[in-house]
Amino acid sequence: MAQNLTFTMIKPCAVRNGHIGSILKMISERGFRIKAMKLTHMTRENAEAFYGIHAGKPFFEGLVSFMSSGPIVAAILEKENAIADFRELIGSTNPANAAPGTIRQLFAESFTANAIHGSDSDENALIEGSFFFSQMEQF
Ligand code: UDP
Ligand code: MG
Repeated sequence: MAQNLTFTMIKPCAVRNGHIGSILKMISERGFRIKAMKLTHMTRENAEAFYGIHAGKPFFEGLVSFMSSGPIVAAILEKENAIADFRELIGSTNPANAAPGTIRQLFAESFTANAIHGSDSDENALIEGSFFFSQMEQF
C-alpha cells in the first residue's frame, strides 16, 4: 500500500449516536478521498484479532466488548501525508487530551468509546485495511 493511504473506523459509539455524516464531512473537508468504505459489525473474535497488540492490557476486554457492540464504518482514505494528517484530525487517544475541533474532542464518549480509529503507520494501515478489504494492492 502506498504511503498516501490510511485506514479508519467510525466506532460503534459514533454510529449509535448518529455521527457518521458529521464525521465523514470533516474527513472530506480535510482533503481525504474515500477509496473504499463499508458499514459492518465486528465479532468479538474480529476485535480481539484487530487489537491483538493490546492483548493483556487492562483495557483490552472493555475495548473488545465495545468494538463488537454495534456497527462500525470501515474505510480506506487517501491524501498526501495521510497517516500523520489523519491522526491530527482525530486528536489524542484520550479525548480529555484531544485538541479543540478534533473528531475525538467533538464526538468521543470516553477513553475507550473515542469515536474513531486511525492507523499509526503505513505498515499498520496495510495490515488493518486488509482486515476489511481484499486486494489492498489495488488501492
Ligand atoms: N484504549 C483504552 N484505554 C487506554 C488506551 C486505549 O480504552 O488506556 C482504547 C481506545 O479506544 C483506543 C484503542 O484502545 O483508541 C487503541 O489504543 P491505542 O493506544 O492504539 O490508541 P489509538 O491508536 O486508537 O489512538
Ligand atoms: Mg493505535
